[in-house]
Amino acid sequence: MSLFDTLGGAKLPLTIVSGEGARLYDSDGTPWWDFYGGHAVSLLGQGHPRWVEAIATQATTLSFVTTLVDVPVRTRAAAKLAAFTGMDQVFFVNSGAEANEAALKLARKATGRSKVVAMELGFHGRTAGAVGVTHRYRDQHQPAHGDVRFVPFGDLDALELALDQRVAAVICEPVQGMAGVVLPPAGWLAEVQRRAHANGSLLICDEVQCGMGRLGVPLASHLAGVSPDLATLGKGLGNGFPVAACLISDAVAATAQPGEHGTTFGGAPLAAAAVAATLDIIEEEHVLETALALGEHMLQTLGSVPGVVEARGGGAWVGVVLEGPASPVAARLRTHGFLVGTSSDPAVLRLAPPATMPLHAVDQLAEALGQVLRSLERRKGAA
Ligand code: PLP
Repeated sequence: MSLFDTLGGAKLPLTIVSGEGARLYDSDGTPWWDFYGGHAVSLLGQGHPRWVEAIATQATTLSFVTTLVDVPVRTRAAAKLAAFTGMDQVFFVNSGAEANEAALKLARKATGRSKVVAMELGFHGRTAGAVGVTHRYRDQHQPAHGDVRFVPFGDLDALELALDQRVAAVICEPVQGMAGVVLPPAGWLAEVQRRAHANGSLLICDEVQCGMGRLGVPLASHLAGVSPDLATLGKGLGNGFPVAACLISDAVAATAQPGEHGTTFGGAPLAAAAVAATLDIIEEEHVLETALALGEHMLQTLGSVPGVVEARGGGAWVGVVLEGPASPVAARLRTHGFLVGTSSDPAVLRLAPPATMPLHAVDQLAEALGQVLRSLERRKGAA
């Protein structure tokens, strides 16, 4: 056993050996529908031919070179990502946590302040700085990192009280993922930015899970009409190739000095090729539109299964709120061949399938979910 097995948490009783599109195959050759997308990563599904070709071609052309030289594929990936998201500048890193580290560091430098306001139930990663702004895990690893004040997600009065002259930035997910696909009240994010700016503070939107087309738009903050000062992406950015990015406004970028931040692997040729290919495919194969249609179907179909309280979210990302605990339901869905996620809300199933998940698979999931909920209800009645 590796330490990874211990630290990473309980494993599912399952070995996945291959995949194609939204299908995964286990070591017995049994097919699974991947409604979890590997922690909301697989946006285009497994083995998209254009993505495979882009990485293979890059591997044979230039596999790695120092970030001190220009690499055309990185320049192209950065320009495409800036155009896609409407952000000015891009700094590639390797993971979502690392992207948040960069954003926090840049915000502190730009403002000359140190305090950060973050949201209760938010999730920003497991590295020292990122876990310092992650409400749920911060206290597990004392001493906690950084001067951070947590406020309830969606609560503008609490935010107002937390904003003082020491606050460098407010960091939030525009839609909270790990918390169970939780949407804020309408107008909240725009008001957060307005109040942060009035206080001389910056807005960092963590779009690692909700961005990059998951919700059917490039950035979830766009849904609120907000263009953040800093935004972070990861997960779907490389469609499974490990890569993340910190997106930066020109005004913030202007305060940074060369050499102040760096990374060996960030924006390496293979990662950049994966990002460029993912963006090409999103644009040319109308993936945002496909995600929106999938989301509508998931919300309607799963939301009307008896025993489901609510289906929320949209695009290739839906939280299914149940009347009881979600974990036993997820376990039983596995016996029907569906891989689904849970969340930090014990009653919520988190679905983050590839945008290319066929609609008939959603119908099959709804059917299986109905059966599972009925059988659990019968068990409860018999007990
Ligand atoms: N931010 C959000 C919103 C996330 O959901 C995650 C991971 O689940 C992270 C940051 C951390 O990303 P990574 O695991 O790539 O470090």
